[in-house]
Amino acid sequence: MAAKKKRALSSPSKLKNLEICSDFINDKNLPVHPVTERGTAIHKAIETGDYSQLAEDEKKLARVTEWYVESKINEAKEEGFLISKVFNELIVETSIENCWGYADKVVFMKDSEGTTKILLFDYKMGFNKVDDVEDNIQFWAYALGLLERCSHKSTIVEAHVIQPRIDWVDQHTFMMSDAPRLRQRISMIDGRRNQGHLNPQPGVCDYCGIRGTCKALFKKASRVAKAYTGDAFRMPRNFHSSEVEDPEELAKLRRLGDLMASWSASVKYNTTQARVAKGIEIPGYELVHRSNDAKASLLTVGSVVRETTQSQTLFNEFMNNCATSINISRKDFESAMSKTEGLANTDLGQKVVDALEDQDAFTGGKESAFLRKTKK
Ligand code: SF4
Repeated sequence: MAAKKKRALSSPSKLKNLEICSDFINDKNLPVHPVTERGTAIHKAIETGDYSQLAEDEKKLARVTEWYVESKINEAKEEGFLISKVFNELIVETSIENCWGYADKVVFMKDSEGTTKILLFDYKMGFNKVDDVEDNIQFWAYALGLLERCSHKSTIVEAHVIQPRIDWVDQHTFMMSDAPRLRQRISMIDGRRNQGHLNPQPGVCDYCGIRGTCKALFKKASRVAKAYTGDAFRMPRNFHSSEVEDPEELAKLRRLGDLMASWSASVKYNTTQARVAKGIEIPGYELVHRSNDAKASLLTVGSVVRETTQSQTLFNEFMNNCATSINISRKDFESAMSKTEGLANTDLGQKVVDALEDQDAFTGGKESAFLRKTKK
């Protein structure tokens, strides 16, 4: 096993975002999403065999993952392969500097003719389907690193992704002859890093550590502002509100924030109307129904706010804005959110809403339609 390094500049899991935007940097200040946190606990339970910290439904996810891994090892045994080494959380390095990452499970097997088959397993415990293994840059990097460890040209890497929450698995076999094209794609991403090929995209900028000061992202925002209000709208000099102290500049920022919020509300309304009244299918979004009278336990809502924000202050402020002590209606929840500075119309607030939607926390009441991002 390779010696552990201090950091991965282009870890396999970050490569996808770097391929989209050359200057992407992980935002280390984002709070850990509750689903991610539980995913880490499930990974640990699978690695150690200790399920004691898992809830019942999480134990099922861990068991089904282990069962799938076992079944694939048994299939290889039936083909005449014998296990030579098994690693959990193996550090897989590639020949590209600083491109390395942890693979959840790697099983090295050999048959009587000396062919090496490497079974690579990666567990995904989220709800959003990841890219197919064949195209997934993360698996390309793992496959490259594993192929580079072996010299025999008959070596193959059979890569598997297991995503039990959405009942999905996928696999692809990488051959030694694939190594040059795997290396080429990853080298290209690595070589473009920090070269200013900025490409603001939803789902990427949201997790980027420099989104507060990124010119490309703000150029997009300012185009929206101009289109919405005419050219008279005055742009702030610095969009990173935490760095601004000039009252005039703060006022510009606040006006821009309010404008973006009203533009966002208008877009939400009109796109939903297009789907409901005209039947227009909007790619990437699905029509779902929900009720403003639906209720959730305040205990559940409060714990999601606490876990998602990782902030006792925001939690206290949110709870003070709730006019109830047992169950809270969606309408009252939205009202409390809008009164809580730091959650009203912010990425963090949206994360709280998403986490509650993922848990189907609100139930009952009279339904109305809205659009939700399709879960891949
Ligand atoms: S915020 Fe800027 S640098 Fe970061 S991913 Fe978006 S476009 Fe790229």
